[in-house]
Amino acid sequence: MERLMDAIVKPERGPGLELRKVPVPVPGPGEVLIKIHKTAICGTDVHIYNWDPWAREHIKNPPMTIGHEYVGEIAELGEGVTGLTIGQRVSGEGHITCHHCRNCHTGNIQWCKNTISVGVDRDGAFAEYVCIPESNVIIIEESLPEDVVAFFDAVGNATHTALMWDLIGEDVLITGAGPIGIIAAGICKYSGARRVIITDINEDRLELARKMGVDAAVNTSKEDLPLVMKEQGLVEGFDVGLEMSGSEDAFKQMVGVMRNGGKISLLGIGNRPISIDMNQIIGKGLTLQGIYGRQMDNWHQMSYMVQGGLDLTPVITHRYNYRDFEKGFEAMNSGKSGKVILDWSK
Ligand code: NAD
Ligand code: ZN
Repeated sequence: MERLMDAIVKPERGPGLELRKVPVPVPGPGEVLIKIHKTAICGTDVHIYNWDPWAREHIKNPPMTIGHEYVGEIAELGEGVTGLTIGQRVSGEGHITCHHCRNCHTGNIQWCKNTISVGVDRDGAFAEYVCIPESNVIIIEESLPEDVVAFFDAVGNATHTALMWDLIGEDVLITGAGPIGIIAAGICKYSGARRVIITDINEDRLELARKMGVDAAVNTSKEDLPLVMKEQGLVEGFDVGLEMSGSEDAFKQMVGVMRNGGKISLLGIGNRPISIDMNQIIGKGLTLQGIYGRQMDNWHQMSYMVQGGLDLTPVITHRYNYRDFEKGFEAMNSGKSGKVILDWSK
């Protein structure tokens, strides 16, 4: 008899999500069934909930279960799966890649052109169980707190963006104090940056960033960034820039305050193309690196940073049972939240 489970589903092309009974997935050869303990809501899930232009383009075949940030335990192993055991605590890389292209062969799975995303292109983790390929399973050591592992997917984005560059003794500008910007701030401080200055235009977000221990959280809609730089002892500009807002204004401002020879990684995705003065990039000799997803090694790096004392709990602002998922999305849409955790225990 078919087993049923609770899942948060996009029922049809349109706004909203629904808690439904759906069949428990059956792991095929090389796949693993994971029983979900906790999940976290990502900006992508909010796009899907709100049914904005991004969601209209990317969500092709509702009904489907959404969600890709989670921690759980292995419940069943598909045929041929070795090296994993039932009951092991795990999370999962959300990008399922082809293993055959040049980028996959060189370990750069984040650039695989054949990527299938869990919770976007196939059923996701906002359910009692999720099924993923064995190679996407990440073993989670018992010492790591579940509330934090629940959003490791996003921590991976922040880790990839921040650790792109040497940070020891460097002055770092982060534009955008959303959950990922705030997490990145924690990573930069942990990794030995001298000053970490974060900007936003939303006071609630800046307040959360202060709890993460930034040296300055600047509301650029009313404060003067160059003045704050002076107060913080910056002489030649920022050495490293992490763009995490997707805002044209923020990126332009960043380029303007970078030191000559500075390095920028770009994570934020804007909702329209932006223009930039190339002469400034050239004249300053800036290095720009686009960031997509995570590298597999980021899963190890973030686990070890958390074990080494990196505390990411300040970014958690809301915790609900999964049945109250509507409240979680409301919090995310309010612009006042950091990470929202959904608990899947009964
Ligand atoms: P978020 O939307 O919660 O945060 C963005 C923040 O930028 C908000 O707090 C907003 O107020 C702020 N902002 C807007 N205009 C600004 C300005 N002019 N100056 C400074 N800040 C400004 O997003 P998040 O979940 O923290 O993710 C960060 C970004 O990374 C988003 O753009 C998201 O789409 C993107 N993202 C990219 C990848 C990738 O693989 N490249 C993965 C995950 C997220
Ligand atoms: Zn590939």
